[in-house]
Amino acid sequence: MIDQFGRKIEYLRISVTDKCNLRCVYCMPMEGLDWLKRQSILSFEEIADIVRTMAPIGLRKVRFTGGEPLVRKDLWRLVEMVAQIPEIEDISLSTNAVLLAEQGHKLRDAGINRVNISLDSLKADRVDAISRRPGSFDRIMHGIEVAQELDFHPIKINVVVIGGQNDDEIEDFALMTKDKPWSVRFIELMPTGSNLDLSAKNFVSCQEVLSRLRAISELHPVTGPIGNGPATYFKFPDAKGTVGVITPMSHNFCDKCNRMRLTADGQLRPCLFGDIQTNLRDAMREGRDIVPLIEETLRIKPEKHHLIQGSMEGSGGLVALSQTGG
Ligand code: SAM
Ligand code: SF4
Repeated sequence: MIDQFGRKIEYLRISVTDKCNLRCVYCMPMEGLDWLKRQSILSFEEIADIVRTMAPIGLRKVRFTGGEPLVRKDLWRLVEMVAQIPEIEDISLSTNAVLLAEQGHKLRDAGINRVNISLDSLKADRVDAISRRPGSFDRIMHGIEVAQELDFHPIKINVVVIGGQNDDEIEDFALMTKDKPWSVRFIELMPTGSNLDLSAKNFVSCQEVLSRLRAISELHPVTGPIGNGPATYFKFPDAKGTVGVITPMSHNFCDKCNRMRLTADGQLRPCLFGDIQTNLRDAMREGRDIVPLIEETLRIKPEKHHLIQGSMEGSGGLVALSQTGG
């Protein structure tokens, strides 16, 4: 699948649910969202059918995300179905890790190779405050331990940098990569309908992150681990792991975009932001061929996103990233 700007699209991020067991301040409103109706959500069989249809036309990598993917019952069953599709070379997971200790084994045995885990602070009280769920820190740390025991590789730790809430921990996070073979990735806060104030006032650019890290040690550019997507990677001398920055706001990386997204209710989105989406669910349920719809969605994939600090305009009316899988 090559789009009109010459980008090779071989990666699908699949949101399996819009629900979540946390309420991260930058992502989801405290009261939750208008959840999707049960019948509008794709079944595991429908999701696997879409992957099976996209594989022969070029799909190679799949990531399960959400909301929180592990709140969807028996996710391992879907992983097992997708793992049986011969063209699919890589299956990964983005999770808050709260339920990873319980489900990690089954997910790995079903075919998950690697995990991205969101962790916004190394301090229990801060994680509980940012995620607005008391007790989440201990469960996340237990999930990370289990991820290490299960040998998921690489383990990527995603940190959304929030001025005044966790930006004083940038150095501590990065220094962990000296001993741990992890990839710690700092993500710039993106504006959505539910965080306009926070994302405008508490924004910290990744250029600032990098200059603070360079003040404590040399930092060399490196090629990132598998699935390096939009991140740019660096390494401290002799470190076991890497540091990554994801800069949707300060440096647009859309020229390297290799992905499309499937929402929990079966909308194929060529871009995380904007309002273009194609309803694969209804077409599939009506027994229509979805290949022409996939090809048309690829054809109209925008050249880049148009996010604007402090405004909902560029996000295409998106209230929260949990609605499209982040
Ligand atoms: N629940 C899972 C998790 O937290 O990893 C998967 C879904 S979450 C929407 C995917 C990623 O999007 C997470 O790394 C999260 O930190 C990030 N994210 C959510 N809202 C964001 C925002 N407004 N700006 C930047 N990153 C955001
Ligand atoms: Fe849930 Fe992930 Fe959004 Fe946090 S970032 S509220 S864990 S979907």
